[in-house]
Amino acid sequence: MLIMIRVLSNAAIEYDIKQDLRKEIEKNLQNVSMENRDLKISEDFLYENDNVHFLIIDNELQIVAGEYSDNVMEELQNLAIKNKTSHAVICDGEKYYVRDVRIQGSGIKNCLYIRGFIRKADADSSYRAIELISYLCIVGVLCIILICELFLSKRISTELKNMCQTAEQIGSNLDMSQRIKYNNQFKEIAVLAQANNRMLDRMEQTFQMQEQFTSDVAHELRTPVSVVMAQCQYARGKDIGREGYEEALEVIYRQSRKIEQIITQLLNFSRLDQDRVQLQEELLDLVEIVESVCESIQEKAQGGILLRLHMQDAVTVGDIGLIIIVVQNLVTNAIKFSEKGGQVDVSTGTEQDWVYVKVRDYGIGIEPEHLESIFRRFYQCDTSRNAEGFGLGLPLCEKIAQKHGGRIEVVSEVGKGSAFTLYLPQK
Ligand code: ADP
Repeated sequence: MLIMIRVLSNAAIEYDIKQDLRKEIEKNLQNVSMENRDLKISEDFLYENDNVHFLIIDNELQIVAGEYSDNVMEELQNLAIKNKTSHAVICDGEKYYVRDVRIQGSGIKNCLYIRGFIRKADADSSYRAIELISYLCIVGVLCIILICELFLSKRISTELKNMCQTAEQIGSNLDMSQRIKYNNQFKEIAVLAQANNRMLDRMEQTFQMQEQFTSDVAHELRTPVSVVMAQCQYARGKDIGREGYEEALEVIYRQSRKIEQIITQLLNFSRLDQDRVQLQEELLDLVEIVESVCESIQEKAQGGILLRLHMQDAVTVGDIGLIIIVVQNLVTNAIKFSEKGGQVDVSTGTEQDWVYVKVRDYGIGIEPEHLESIFRRFYQCDTSRNAEGFGLGLPLCEKIAQKHGGRIEVVSEVGKGSAFTLYLPQK
């Protein structure tokens, strides 16, 4: 950079010297004239002004007026004439700027010129101070920038070090409650820290959900496994006769089925979670699906619940096997949580860009504080009223809906019933 400044300032100085030279010659030119082929030099003519020296020469390089008492005089005198052109020459190892201007009125044959010249070293001296000051200013500014940069980089590296330390701590003790501390002085660092903290929030949430999930699975499996073990012990301990064995085997079978159902549901989840389930997309007629699901459920529902269908066209594209699971779950829940002799309304139709299946019951309803949680795995509002279920139906339904780009909405009032609606995008 300094070299560049030096080159540029040299070019600027050279330009300035040439301009000065030109101006001085122009001024002095007013003090000479040709009258009847005679050269008239007025008293104001200056042979030297501001380090610029003047000669009057003819076109054969003979000096007509002026002198320069220097040992380079001869060299300067013998330079070829270049009218109105300032140029640099080296004479006796020193740089000079020379300019010739023809004197107005001088004849073609006997042409006279003013030759002005200036020694660079003489001109330079007046520029050196300015150059030195500008160098000092530049060095000063560079020093200030350097100090600021050092200061800033130190502050930034301290902030980044803190971030790394927190990340290391979280990594080593898996304490997800820690967050990266930052101040708002450096916007980019604050943005980075906030993004990391948001990521930690999500990771903490996922960790907690995973811990909750593991404990829920263990809890759900423990009961049937304990029953199976108790029955085995009972049957092994004493002779309980054929009937006793059959009873024990029946209990073991029922509990094993429950375990199997839990495992199957969990596997379904994990496949859907890991995107291992490829949707077998085909044309879905929701009217047909609802009718066939309700028909088979109605046959099994001996509790006397009446399923009333209100069908309007609803066609889209999706995985028929998965959508059947959703409809089955919603209708089974509606029946499960209705009073005997009650009714359940199932309707289909379209709403803006969506097709829907709505299952409305007039059963026990859901307390508002439970509404957010019923889509959580293993969540049951009241286990005493639902011995058969294990809280995996609704989360599975929601996952399937989401896989199809849809959603499940629920409205419920305690004592008045609930309405679950599956919305799928219309295609
Ligand atoms: P479950 O196998 O226990 O039915 P779900 O995930 O399907 O599991 O439902 C979770 C919980 O949501 C149920 O245990 C129940 O408390 C509540 N629930 C679901 N559907 C209804 C409904 N139609 N009426 C009242 N409560 C319901």
